[in-house]
Amino acid sequence: MKYAIIIPDGAADEPLAELGGKTPIEAAHTPNMDRVAREGRQGLARTVPEGFESGSDVATMTLLGYDPRVYHTGRAPLEAAAQRIPLSPTDWVFRCNLVTVVDGVMKDHSAGGISDAEAQRLLADLSRALDLPGFEFHNGVSYRNLLVYRGAEEFELKTKPPHEFPEEPLTRYLPRGKGAEVLKAIMDRSRELFEGHEINEVRKQTGHNAATQVWLWGQGHAPNIPTFQKRFGIKSGCMITGVDLLRGLAVLLGWDVREVEGMTSFHDTNYSGQGEATAEMLDKYDLVFSHVEAPDEASHQADFKTKVESIEHIDRYVVGPVLEKLRTFPEWRILVMPDHPTNIATRKHGYAPSPFAMAGTRVRGVVKSPYSERNAAASDLKIERGHELMEYFLRGGNL
Ligand SMILES: [Zn+2]
Repeated sequence: MKYAIIIPDGAADEPLAELGGKTPIEAAHTPNMDRVAREGRQGLARTVPEGFESGSDVATMTLLGYDPRVYHTGRAPLEAAAQRIPLSPTDWVFRCNLVTVVDGVMKDHSAGGISDAEAQRLLADLSRALDLPGFEFHNGVSYRNLLVYRGAEEFELKTKPPHEFPEEPLTRYLPRGKGAEVLKAIMDRSRELFEGHEINEVRKQTGHNAATQVWLWGQGHAPNIPTFQKRFGIKSGCMITGVDLLRGLAVLLGWDVREVEGMTSFHDTNYSGQGEATAEMLDKYDLVFSHVEAPDEASHQADFKTKVESIEHIDRYVVGPVLEKLRTFPEWRILVMPDHPTNIATRKHGYAPSPFAMAGTRVRGVVKSPYSERNAAASDLKIERGHELMEYFLRGGNL
């Protein structure tokens, strides 16, 4: 059996007046996702358990079949796994965003999707200026960087992801609890240093958002996760993604990570390259997991046009070729679902259960309707404990 899982990150949404009362998925032309839904089944799965912040770390862990209540220790440690940063059990990892703050208000959690090279320069300069023993910066992709702490300081913190409070004052969301003062000192120092920094001067002149400071959040120790083979008996898996969080989950699961040239987390990504690679990897692996971040980023920018377009591109360039490839195998299954909704209206991740569509060998459909939040909700397939969906998808059992 060959399995393909395709994740249009943050694609689910609410009906929008700008789209004539349709959701972006409904407004998008998606013949391939619709085919999956019509030939197979749709339903809803709750991917963010109660008490958790809605984010791809929690939601993706759930849809991979791992209960976040058992395995989630924070977002940053997952990204550290992606970079294969060695961690001892007492080390701490923080997500270190480069953000744009104007007059004390969070304007952009991504500092205008700053380039890797610019981010590297800024953090290298910050590291030098801080000279704090035990703290090390690690560059990730674009604005998503990490701060590792190896030392005796203990943390018991409440922090807030910057994409969760757009257009709101920073002061409300500063870190609180044990160790908060150190984090605040690092953020303050970055604000002083980045003001008037050459990189920011150039960004402003070229009409890009400046990286006015770092924002620290998502902290935790290294998690202890059983491999996918151990948990589900599937021998080989491959992850294709433009973001470190998912690469990290793949590493922890014991999967290979396949890079694709030109793959980014934005709408400028190489959709067709990713689709081709996903199809090609099905020859080699039992399960291929292909994740596209673009719809999520478009939602955070409240850019509904780009969101619709990115969903259409995923349908055409990823789901289409993958379906075609799958049909060349005697037994196969496909699952399409966003990890979580990201709502254009609020620019934040939502908490509604995620609509999924699956098709293939021994997946029998009952209602033949196109893929959408509404049609998925109308189905009788509702999975409250979202991590049970993977078992159902792999085994085609009863729920
Ligand atoms: Zn997001």
